[in-house]
Amino acid sequence: MDISPEQLRGMGIKALILDADNTLSSHASQIPFEGAVEWVNAMRKEGFSAVIVSNNFRRRVEPFAAQFGLPFISMAMKPFPFGYLRAVREMGVSPKETAAIGDQVFTDILGAKLSGVYSILVTPQGEESVLRFGWRRRLEQPVRRKVREKGIDQHWRKRGGRHG
Ligand SMILES: [Mg+2]
Repeated sequence: MDISPEQLRGMGIKALILDADNTLSSHASQIPFEGAVEWVNAMRKEGFSAVIVSNNFRRRVEPFAAQFGLPFISMAMKPFPFGYLRAVREMGVSPKETAAIGDQVFTDILGAKLSGVYSILVTPQGEESVLRFGWRRRLEQPVRRKVREKGIDQHWRKRGGRHG
């Protein structure tokens, strides 16, 4: 299921935090997934701010982010909240108005929870053939729901932690 600008707006989302590796491209690749640049451009046209927040090195993230014309935070140390909160601050929004999109539950999604940012899990990078469907199809709400059901949200709720 694709995530539409309308859906995000309906959730009060104004800004996006985007993971790089296995979310916008294959791991360490400078070549974005098919449709990724177009999707980001379309979202920005719809008025969403966006920042790439990656745990990878600057030399990987900087030229990659430049292809999207996006600001970036490298060595973000996800799941720690620092990178998320800096991104939120730089975009001039609140955590609740932000959605983090990433492929890893224990870095991208956990970090979003700890930062009070909404999280969207994309399916892990599959085979080449999957890419033909384009980047947007990789955003799968059912997967995210499954993660919620499996208790990441609940886990943090029980502990009194913050969640998206
Ligand atoms: Mg990743």
